[in-house]
Amino acid sequence: MSGTALLGQSQAELTAWAVAQGQPAYRGQQLHQGIYRQRVRSLGEISVLPKTWRETAAADIGRSQVTLRQVAPDGTHKYLLAMADGAIVETVGIPSRDRLTVCASTQVGCPMGCTFCATGKGGFARNLALHEILDQVLTVESDMAQRVSHLVFMGMGEPLLNLDNVVAAIRSLHRDVGMSQRNITVSTVGLPHKILALAAEKLPVTLAVSLHAPNQELRTELIPAAKPYPLSQLMQDCREYVQQTGRRVSFEYTLLAGTNDRPEHARQLAELVAGFQSHVNLIPYNPIAEAEFVRPEDRAVQVFLQALAKRGVAASVRRTRGLAANAACGQLRGTLQKKVP
Ligand code: SAH
Ligand code: SF4
Repeated sequence: MSGTALLGQSQAELTAWAVAQGQPAYRGQQLHQGIYRQRVRSLGEISVLPKTWRETAAADIGRSQVTLRQVAPDGTHKYLLAMADGAIVETVGIPSRDRLTVCASTQVGCPMGCTFCATGKGGFARNLALHEILDQVLTVESDMAQRVSHLVFMGMGEPLLNLDNVVAAIRSLHRDVGMSQRNITVSTVGLPHKILALAAEKLPVTLAVSLHAPNQELRTELIPAAKPYPLSQLMQDCREYVQQTGRRVSFEYTLLAGTNDRPEHARQLAELVAGFQSHVNLIPYNPIAEAEFVRPEDRAVQVFLQALAKRGVAASVRRTRGLAANAACGQLRGTLQKKVP
C-alpha cells in the first residue's frame, strides 16, 4: 500500500498493512482510531504506536491543508483546501441546531459547464481521490469541533462522474467515520446510465437531481452537457432509482429571473415531477461574475413556489447560507483561482 493514502482504508486493511510491516495485528485498530477518531494528520501523532515505527513507516494519511477559512455571521464555515498536488477544492460546514452538514466537493472543477455555475465556468482538472473526499469531512469536524451529522455532495464537481470514489467514500463514512448513510445526499445533473449505476450500489442515500428547467430545450441551454440525456429518460431513471432503493429523489431548481421562473415553467415543472413523492428545492440564483443571469426578487420566488403548491408539488426555497462569507459552493474558489490549471 506504499504510495496510497491510509485514509479510506478499513480496519481490516489497516491491520493487513501493519502486519505486512512486521507489526502485531492490534496496530490496525490503533491506526483506525488515530485516523478516524483522533483525526491525526501523520502517523507521528499516534502516540500509542512505537516511536521507531512511527518515524520510519513510509505512510501518508492523506490529509489536506486549509489554505483559506471564512466564517459567516450565521456560523457557516467555508474552506479552501489544498491537496498534495496543489489542487484547491472548496468545502463548507453548515451548523444548524444539533446538526452539522458538510457540503463536499467530488472533483477539482467540473466538466459539465452549467452556464450559471462558477465551478462549471472554471474548467475541470481531475477527480478527487477517496481520501481527498473523506478528508473534507474530517477537516470540518476538527475545525468546528463537532461531529458531522449530514453530508451533501453539492460542492465542486459532478459526483456521478467520479462514482467509484464517491461510493467508496459513502461506504467509508458509514464504516469508519460512523455517519448514517441516510443523512447523505448525492446531487447530480444526471448522466446516462449513472443514476442506475448508483442505484445498483444499494446505498440508502438521497438522490438530489438538479433539473433547473422543465423542458429539454431550455435545459440544454442552461446545462450544455445534458444534450445527450433527454429529460424523459432522466425522469425514467429517477423513477427506477426510487423503485430500486426505496429512497426518495429530490429535485433542485436554480431560479433564474426571466429565464426559467415564468408561470409556464412552474406548470411544466409540476407536470414533470407529478407522481414523485419528492420535494423540489428552489435555489434563487447567486450572481456570479462570469454570467449574465439575474437573481429573482423574493416576491417572484414566492409566486413560483405558490404555483407549484397549487398543483400539489411539495417545494421549498433554499436559503443560501453564508452569502456574506462568499456566496455558494464553487464561488469562493473563484476568488483565489479563476481557472483550473
Ligand atoms: N454537480 C452537482 C453537484 C454540485 S452543484 C449538481 O449540479 O447537482 C450543487 C447545486 O448548486 C446544484 O443544484 C447547482 O445548480 C447549484 N448552483 C450552482 N451554481 C449556482 C448559482 N450560481 N446559484 C445558485 N445555485 C447554484
Ligand atoms: Fe458541475 Fe454541478 Fe456546477 Fe453543473 S452545477 S457545472 S454539474 S458543479
